[in-house]
This record gives sequence, C-alpha cells and structure tokens, in this order.
Amino acid sequence: MVRDVIIVGAGVVGCAIARELSRWDLDILVVDQASDVAEGGCTKANTAIVHGGYDAKEGTLKAKYNVEGNGMFDQLCVELEVPFERNGSLVVAFEGDDLSQLEVLRKRGETNGVPGLKVLSEAELREKEPHVGSTARGALWVPTGAIVCPYELTIALAENAVENGARFQLDTAVTGIRREGEVWLVETAAGETLEAKAVVNAAGYQSGKFNNMVTAEKLDILPRRGEYYMIDKSYAGVFHSAMFQLPSDKGKGILVARTVDGSILIGPTAEDIDDPTDTRTTAEGLDKALTFARKTWEDMPTRSFITTFAGVRPRPSTGDFKIGEPADAPFFFNAAGIESPGLTSAPAIGKDLAQRIAQRLNAGKKDNFNPNRKAIPKFRELSNEERAALIAQDPAFGRIVCRCETVTEGEIRAAIRRPLGARTLDGVKRRTRAGMGRCQSGFCSPRVVAILCEELGLDPTDITKFGGASKLLVGRIGEEGKA
Ligand SMILES: Cc1cc2nc3c(=O)[nH]c(=O)nc-3n(C[C@H](O)[C@H](O)[C@H](O)COP(=O)(O)OP(=O)(O)OC[C@H]3O[C@@H](n4cnc5c(N)ncnc54)[C@H](O)[C@@H]3O)c2cc1C
Repeated sequence: MVRDVIIVGAGVVGCAIARELSRWDLDILVVDQASDVAEGGCTKANTAIVHGGYDAKEGTLKAKYNVEGNGMFDQLCVELEVPFERNGSLVVAFEGDDLSQLEVLRKRGETNGVPGLKVLSEAELREKEPHVGSTARGALWVPTGAIVCPYELTIALAENAVENGARFQLDTAVTGIRREGEVWLVETAAGETLEAKAVVNAAGYQSGKFNNMVTAEKLDILPRRGEYYMIDKSYAGVFHSAMFQLPSDKGKGILVARTVDGSILIGPTAEDIDDPTDTRTTAEGLDKALTFARKTWEDMPTRSFITTFAGVRPRPSTGDFKIGEPADAPFFFNAAGIESPGLTSAPAIGKDLAQRIAQRLNAGKKDNFNPNRKAIPKFRELSNEERAALIAQDPAFGRIVCRCETVTEGEIRAAIRRPLGARTLDGVKRRTRAGMGRCQSGFCSPRVVAILCEELGLDPTDITKFGGASKLLVGRIGEEGKA
C-alpha cells in the first residue's frame, strides 16, 4: 500500500507537521521507534520556553520559524486546550558582564521581527523581579516570551492529528529510506517496508543520518547535552518571567524558569558529547548549573530539588535548521537538525512544510478538519462544584491516586482510553502528571501499574516505564525457580 506521506519521528516537530497535514485530504502515517509520542528525543526534556526570537542569528531559518512559531501559540493552545502562559522573558546582565550586549540582543531581535523589546535599568528589573540576585545590573525585557508544556503540546498535536485521520505506528525503528521509481521505501528494524509518495524526516538526532541516505547535501548532527535540576512547585511564585543570563556561543545560558505546572527548572548546561542517547546527569554538570543559577537566585532552596534530568540537543553541523526538499531528493522533506528554538518553531515548521507537501501532492483541503481537541479534565484545577459534577458522572474522579499532584483515577483511566492513549508509566505521567510531584511516583506508581493492567488487560510484569526493555517488575515473589 502506497501512502501519501510517512513522517519519521513523533517529537513535537513530527506531530506538528502531522496535525497540519491532517487539514488536507491525505493518507498520513507517523512512525517512531519509541513507544509513545514525545518519548524518544529531546521534546520530553527541554526548558519549555516559547522563545521571543532575539537570540537566533538574523536571516536564519531559526530566526524566521522562531518568530512565526511564537505568534501561533495563543490560538494553537486554545484549540488544543494546552496550558500556555505569556509571562515574558528577561535576559539578565550581571556585574562584570558586558551590558552593551543587551542592546546587541535588542537590535538583533528587532531585525528578526520580535515586538516590544526593551532594555531595563537595574531598578526597572528589580521592580519586575524583586528576588533577582544582588549583582544583577540590567536586563532585556522580552514580552512575547512564554511557557508551555512540551510533551502536553506534542500529545495534543498527535491526538488532534489522529482525530483528523492521521495514523501513528509506534515501536517502529526506521533503518533505511530509499527511492524506487516514484515511491519512497521506508525500511524498519522489524523487516517491514512501508511505502509513500512523500517522506518527512523529523527524526531528531537521527535526522542527519536519514538526510545523508538520500541527498548529497550532507548534514551531521552533533549532540550537545543539557542538564537540569527541578524545584518543587511550592516556589512557583519567586519569579514571574523566565530568567535568562546573557547567551554564549554554546547556547542561551543557564535559566531559572517556571513551568506551566509551577515547578522551577534550573539549567541547562551545554556539553558536547558523542552519544546522542546519553541523557545521564553528572555531578559536574549539575554543579555548573547550580553555580550559574545562583547568580539569578541567590537563596535557591536546594532542599526543594525534586529531580534531575538531561536532554540532548540535535545540533546541526550547518548551524541552522534544515527544512524542505533537497534538490536531488524529490518528495523527501527535511525537518532536520531542529535544536533550540525547535519547540517554539514547531507550529510554524509544521504549517510551512504541510503546505509545501500538500502542494507537491496536489492535495485538496478537507472541509471537515476539526482544529479542536478536548483535554483530560484536571481535577486539581477545578472548583468544588466542578469536582462534584465530575464525580457524579464518574466516581473514579473522586479517588486520588497521585497525592503530590492531586491526580485522580478518572484522569488516569481517561489518559489510557484516549486516541493514542498511554501504554506505559511515563505515558500516564506525561498525560496526567501522576508521578511528577515531590515524591516522584514513589507513592502512586503501583496503583498506576494496576490501572494500566486493568485497562489494557495486561499482567503487571508486562508494564514498562517507557516501552522496550524498561520493565518495572521482573516477576512475582514466590515464583522464582518454579519454571
Ligand atoms: C536541553 C534542551 C533545552 C531546550 N530548550 C528549548 C526551549 O526552551 N525552547 C525551545 O523552543 N526549544 C528548546 N529546545 C529544543 C527542542 O527541544 C527541540 O528543538 C525539539 O524538541 C525538537 O523536536 P523534534 O521533533 O525535531 O525532535 P525529537 O523530540 O528529538 O523527536 C525525534 C523523534 O524521532 C524519533 N526517531 C529517531 N530516530 C528514529 C528512527 N530511526 N526510527 C523511528 N523514529 C526515530 C525519536 O524517537 C523521536 O521521537 C531544547 C532542547 C534541549 C535538548
């Protein structure tokens, strides 16, 4: 069967393309080697900032898609019922920093089309953010900076794409892409050959490999790891905006940034590594994050760290995103080397590529595309009246499973029953926040495993943390040696 489009990669970029493509009358398949969307790459581990666009070099694709993408978030997040907050960003310069860099960033931002940028004096900065460190001397104010949950957005994009007819095939590692006649053949590790008129390469850290299989316009992906601490949401109110420091040639520097759920991220570092799948945290990296972040937040409550994590940026050797159809590979569309600001850019990349692909395939627009997706009700955010009404409809919403984040059994069951529903512990966690809180799932994971078993008809020993070999339980006590 020859499909219209196969998208390789179900990170935020692949899912944004799938959702935009599902506006058109096309047969779309998204394949990913991971067991869930937003699972196999850096979409699940980043700073979650919708960047203003002052940092990307003028004239680059990064600058273009950053600013366009930023402007699309308000409507997109309303349509998909994804939490989003335009809380602004501040790039803070400290004693010893070159303050004139703030003006350089402002001018670059203006050239890139970022509205409302303003260099603030120390007094203006302190008025906005009274808790900023004592050596802060001024800042760039970026009112269009915002925050969003990257995996919640990706799940919502994917669900909406499915509701509009796209299909997803997970646990499917692509091993080769080649053209035969008019058709692209996508070969998988399971020995399957999928066929399509057009292929989209949104494979994150493997996007260079697939690009290099089909075109002479080579691209290498150079992995750069970023490590983070996360602070409990009881400190959500300390800073209103995302607190950047002056960027360097290695990235946007160490941030102190609140998430839409109220936790605070400290990081990321920027370390060039060899293995793009090496998402370990290191004592050295975390120390570095802490030392820099203390300039922004001097009395940071280190006792309130609840976890650490790392993400790996798929840094393109060309220095810029690689988007579109190479001259020597017709109907092969790259969305390759999408490092930061990739989350911000994803909606604009999705829209642009979908239009180009639809045009090449002479597809017409559907008249029944539904842009709206309903989120799972969040018990923790409801009024008592709303809670009572929900429990009256389904008593499972009256049973709290995750105490740290106030997540109910009803939410967990809904997360499993949805299109592209959760199949793993992390799948439930990313859809509901069960296990994301202070105890980091110590209390709720056995109950979540039990609900997954009930809903999916599985044995507890079948349940994984994130698919593949990540089994949570190895056997039943007393059964050892019986076989
Ligand atoms: C530390 C860090 C901080 C960041 N902070 C920000 C930020 O604040 N704001 C922002 O805008 N951007 C940020 N980014 C960048 C952003 O996270 C990425 O640009 C974005 O997530 C890229 O999405 P993607 O879909 O291209 O890639 P990914 O999320 O990596 O998805 C690629 C997918 O391809 C799949 N895949 C790979 N190989 C194969 C194969 N052989 N077969 C099948 N599937 C395959 C993977 O499983 C994965 O699911 C940050 C990145 C990092 C690492």
